[in-house]
Amino acid sequence: MNHVAKKFWRVHVLHRAQWNDHYHVNISQSLHNHGLEVGDQVRIGTNHDNLALFTIQSILEEDHDSTMDKTSCDHHHHRVQLNGKRIGLDQDQKDCELSGPSVVMLKQQPQQQSKKDKEEEEEFCDQSIKEQSEFVEQLNQREEKSGKEFLFLALHGGDMEAFTAQQVELLGNSIPCTTYVCKGYRKGGGAFNRWHITSSELSIRSFPKLNELANHQPKHEYCISFHGMSKGGILIGGLASSMEKELLQSILLQEIEKKNQNDDKVIVRIAESHDLYNGMSVKNPVNWLTESGTGGIQLEQDRTVRSKYWKEIVKSVIVYCSNKKTSTIIMHPVL
Ligand SMILES: [Zn+2]
Repeated sequence: MNHVAKKFWRVHVLHRAQWNDHYHVNISQSLHNHGLEVGDQVRIGTNHDNLALFTIQSILEEDHDSTMDKTSCDHHHHRVQLNGKRIGLDQDQKDCELSGPSVVMLKQQPQQQSKKDKEEEEEFCDQSIKEQSEFVEQLNQREEKSGKEFLFLALHGGDMEAFTAQQVELLGNSIPCTTYVCKGYRKGGGAFNRWHITSSELSIRSFPKLNELANHQPKHEYCISFHGMSKGGILIGGLASSMEKELLQSILLQEIEKKNQNDDKVIVRIAESHDLYNGMSVKNPVNWLTESGTGGIQLEQDRTVRSKYWKEIVKSVIVYCSNKKTSTIIMHPVL
């Protein structure tokens, strides 16, 4: 698997003001020849203060803009077609910068670190990522030697969907598991707008740690992905069986109830196919990263729920996992 090259190009912008899709881009054959593929994520903008991640939707036909000024210099051969609203590009701006890869890499952490050192280093790294308004992915494996059962994801962590990265990191520090977290920041706000890529479109070519996780053997039996939505309480989605989702639902209701004595009831609902954030795509990492391809549970949590109950939700997931472990032991006495 070749990852998107660490390269930088100046590109000519073909504006698509009428395009309602602000998250995709079409690229010229010349960029495709340099190794960019449909489905890759790339950074496009005028400079580091003004850029966003886009997903390549298609490769432009060679003769697409035959009317273009052919006398223009070399970089004008590289073209992108997009609606530049997200990055504030107006119609008369014709030049942009395009670069890969999508994420910055953190220095590899030595294996033999004490927990405290590691936490300090993580904080330091987070701080520098924040200061640089950057985007990073982190993969941590803290499994028991005997089993590789639980995988937790925060694909839109940092300031994109607040508290989701903290939830997964807390789980990683609490039970043996694998965690994968993406964190995006932007000083002055707008991290979501800049970095958010729909789960089902995240490319393993653009996210090297996700690729590492994809190649991880054996695959995880259970995967829970933490997300944020603006309203609606908690929505439990993913392709896991109704039985699994109902079990987690009842634990969540219990744990939240313990803290929530006088407040309004929190709605904890199981997603249906018509729900927008149902997490049921087979292309969603929560599903394809599991052994069966259908073992994922997606937890969508509204803003209030995340700020008020993020730890109760983590506790619920730990209870859910210990329940899984017990049942595994009962079903397989050899363990
Ligand atoms: Zn999300």
